[in-house]
Amino acid sequence: MLQEQDAHAAEMERTFIAIKPDGVQRGLISEIVARFERKGFKLVAIKLVVPSKDFAQKHYHDLKERPFFNGLCDFLSSGPVLAMVWEGEGVIKYGRKLIGATDPQKSEPGTIRGDLAVVVGRNIIHGSDGPETAKDEIKLWFKPEELNTCTINSEKWVYGAN
Ligand code: UDP
Ligand code: MG
Repeated sequence: MLQEQDAHAAEMERTFIAIKPDGVQRGLISEIVARFERKGFKLVAIKLVVPSKDFAQKHYHDLKERPFFNGLCDFLSSGPVLAMVWEGEGVIKYGRKLIGATDPQKSEPGTIRGDLAVVVGRNIIHGSDGPETAKDEIKLWFKPEELNTCTINSEKWVYGAN
């Protein structure tokens, strides 16, 4: 039993997910949050913020050479963004699966972008693309004390460890 729990703890990871201003304005918060929640991932932090342009540039620093960088940062800082941290086994990679391909034209039906977005510049959601970016993005958007450390009751039912 203990081994099972240790194995589960070792597999646990966190990712940064944000609903961008288009998703918030279109009233898609509950739809998107529900998909992560129903899957069995744990919500660790959530807040609605309007990032400054400077902050948006920090968030997207990896893309600063790309032609769309300036417009992207203007857009991210144009209104409220729902910033979240989700936790679970495989949540970084599987979160990206739930989100779908960057270009909604290439996202499969059943994914968030596939079902709810049409063009790449208004693809409604961001998700960390790997363990390092997840760590950096969580640190950029949240203070340590904003991260909830409580155990949630469903965990033993999601993972099977009692
Ligand atoms: N983006 C864009 N035009 C492009 C590629 C990307 O406007 O040709 C935007 C799009 O909103 C995307 C964001 O830049 O979500 C970040 O790009 P990235 O390649 O990191 O895609 P993501 O990780 O969001 O799927
Ligand atoms: Mg990305």
